[in-house]
Amino acid sequence: MSVIVVSNRVARAKSDEPIAGGLASALIPMVKESGAIWVGSSGHAGDAALTRDSFAKIEALGRGALATVDMPARHYRGYYEGFANSALWPALHSRPDLIQVTADEYASYREVNAFMARALLRFSGPEAVFWVQDYHFLTLGAELRRFDVRRPIGFFLHTPWAERSTMAAVPHHGDLVSAMLAYDLIGFQTDDDRRNFEDYLQFEFGLSAVDGTVMSKHGQTQLATFPIGIDVDEFAARATKAIARPEIGRLRASLQGAKLALGVDRLDYSKGLANRIRAFDRMFELEPSLKRAVSLLQVAVPSRGNIRAYRELKSELAALVGEVNGRHGEVDWAPIRYLNKGFAQSTLAGFYRVAHVGLVTPLHDGMNLVAKEYVAAQNPFDPGVLVLSSFAGAAKELDAALIVNPHDVDGMARQIAKALEMRLEERRERWGNMVNRLRRSPVQIWFSDFLHALSDLGRPPAKIAAARPAAMPIMLDRAGSSRSLHSH
Ligand code: UDP
Repeated sequence: MSVIVVSNRVARAKSDEPIAGGLASALIPMVKESGAIWVGSSGHAGDAALTRDSFAKIEALGRGALATVDMPARHYRGYYEGFANSALWPALHSRPDLIQVTADEYASYREVNAFMARALLRFSGPEAVFWVQDYHFLTLGAELRRFDVRRPIGFFLHTPWAERSTMAAVPHHGDLVSAMLAYDLIGFQTDDDRRNFEDYLQFEFGLSAVDGTVMSKHGQTQLATFPIGIDVDEFAARATKAIARPEIGRLRASLQGAKLALGVDRLDYSKGLANRIRAFDRMFELEPSLKRAVSLLQVAVPSRGNIRAYRELKSELAALVGEVNGRHGEVDWAPIRYLNKGFAQSTLAGFYRVAHVGLVTPLHDGMNLVAKEYVAAQNPFDPGVLVLSSFAGAAKELDAALIVNPHDVDGMARQIAKALEMRLEERRERWGNMVNRLRRSPVQIWFSDFLHALSDLGRPPAKIAAARPAAMPIMLDRAGSSRSLHSH
């Protein structure tokens, strides 16, 4: 079986740079270990004529490979900033009020999905299974079927799937979800997301899922939950190593004995950053003795800056942080250290390790890997406390965290204060419970469970398989060094 993983962005093969999000973070080690081929956008726009040269690069990534393709210039903006991130993303995160999209952008989304399907034909050997990742490619499976690909095609949604009435706010939702049923397997982060999807199918199409299986005009689609995990030991080892780094030493020294609370998020409205800062502000009002005793380090990595809602959020947060620092700060102490840049995971692991409290308070989040990484990075003898939103997928497993409602600023303020004052015995008990849960479902299980489920499915053999364009062979240097098929 050869596994072809598809996502909008892929990671770079050789880098120790910030990772673009949870999807890349999970897939990098899995592609390295499994030998899968990971196909995605090169980050450049091309003329959309697919040739052998369209694959700018095929290079080794551990035992696997990365293949990137230039995306069609005419449609990329409408697809990415338009339909994917100004219609689907807000709806999936229960913010239908932020949907702003045109019919042209939907057409571009469909075009880019069709383009990627054509690009994938190159990898469509008799042993191939396709695993499509995330909301950028809801209709890619249907496009592959149009090319008569009969091999198993799976899809995993890294975000939540919102309640049916919210999803119905997306223009063309019926068209989209109906196309999704061309997938053999659709995976969700939590049972709630899967149930919301089933409700949608029932209400909009009158289709019922029986034991997780739905029958539609496309045939059979299996719906299942596969919570994404992390490699706990790998992250713990990174954290132990990171504390020797000079920047981690400087961070520690700069605290002058105060405790550190930490937030690490993309700058996204789903992450609940404004309420987190308000909660910190409120905490100093409720417990003035905590002034000088704690600082919040908030890493807010710029994201999707071409979209208005993101630019507005950036200004709102900058103003809010300024206000809180102005209100409570002293000449030699600032309540909030606010950074608009990303860090490599090797550094981030050190931040996690130093932080007494990890704040993960999204309004909605598919899983949130930062919550899991924070737990994995703790010193087992003196662990920090995780404050976690009940609306993060991770809360299903990490129920030994201090669970908060991110809409309740006063409640969060009290829980952050409680975390700061929690005694060692309780911290160890909660942490032990969480780390055991994380060990039981590592990212390797997520990857292999999905692929096992997928390879057991699949459509009946093609009636007109000959209609499919012949797949071009992939030339991979398995010895480890990467080789581009063509110079670019
Ligand atoms: N991350 C990183 N550098 C940063 C901030 C985040 O490498 O400065 C990584 C982080 O370690 C995590 C991922 O990006 O693996 C974020 O995933 P998460 O599921 O928390 O959120 P998403 O960004 O996918 O919504």
